[in-house]
Amino acid sequence: MKENNYDVIIIGAGTAGMTSAIYLKHAGLSCLLIEGETPGGQVAKTMTITNYPGFKSITGAELATKILSQVKELGVEILYQKVQNVKLDQDRKIIVLDDEKELITKNIIIATGRNPKKLGLPNEEKLIGHGISYCATCDGAFFKGEEVVVIGGGDTALEEAIYLSSICKKVTLIHRREEFRAKSYLQDELKYIDNIEIITNANVTDLIESKGQLSHVRIARENKVENIKATGCFIFIGYIPQTDCFSYLGITNEEGFIETNANMETRVKGIYAIGDVREKEICQIVTATSDGATAAIHLSKAMND
Ligand code: NAP
Repeated sequence: MKENNYDVIIIGAGTAGMTSAIYLKHAGLSCLLIEGETPGGQVAKTMTITNYPGFKSITGAELATKILSQVKELGVEILYQKVQNVKLDQDRKIIVLDDEKELITKNIIIATGRNPKKLGLPNEEKLIGHGISYCATCDGAFFKGEEVVVIGGGDTALEEAIYLSSICKKVTLIHRREEFRAKSYLQDELKYIDNIEIITNANVTDLIESKGQLSHVRIARENKVENIKATGCFIFIGYIPQTDCFSYLGITNEEGFIETNANMETRVKGIYAIGDVREKEICQIVTATSDGATAAIHLSKAMND
């Protein structure tokens, strides 16, 4: 097992992780960025971003590509591999990769983000890619001119319902309560879109298929069962943090999100957490970049003390 020469290893190349890499490089520190899938994380899957300063409107893919090219131009090394777990050996952290290889470092920044929650209905897994989706940006175009359903009542559900209404013939938004969690400006916007129907106080009970494709979404409301015609069902009911591989470090809360202080430090010295994987109220691109910068600046100060 060899000691690595990196000052810091960042796990996850979403907006938060890439921002950390930029700040660490500017501080003269060396870092390795490990990514298990595609760089950009949730941002890369977002259609249009209109609340990131400096860009009146930019696609998520474009923003992610711009940040990635900045990271690469600074000479940050990127390793495309999944992390299996992280072990502690006094002040050393051992990162075990999927192929059992180990990397040793004193400092880790965790930026692994979160994944969409599933409804847990019998047909759900089977119909992924056959009508069930968790990403309107990725799959919306497949349902052009068709009738789709969006499930959820938070910011994501409403934003994506609005986006889908520009592609699809009809969008039915189904929410389990009367009140929406989403910001009021999104709720207001919904009211002016003719092809969005809102159904509240309804639970999705079944995903009905025909010839291997989703055909209807069954809902129950006020003791009545109803089948809503839909070739697409977009589920936006929250997210699960990607922290399984850090579970026995004892740094997560009950929901699996990582607890940090204002400097992004976890309760293990030398391990930081940033972005959506962290326990926090607001998950925005600006807050992810802010977390990334904060961790990197604090870490570089700590290393120079
Ligand atoms: P969220 O705010 O947690 O909302 C999840 C929604 O799904 C809630 O309405 C919830 O209903 C519903 N839900 C949960 N489990 C369900 C189930 N099993 N069956 C049916 N419905 C279920 O998640 P989010 O919308 O993805 O947002 C996550 C965070 O990102 C939030 O902090 C949000 O503000 C932020 N965000 C911000 C923006 C923006 O500002 N532009 C965009 C996207 C996301 P209940 O309300 O009844 O619990």
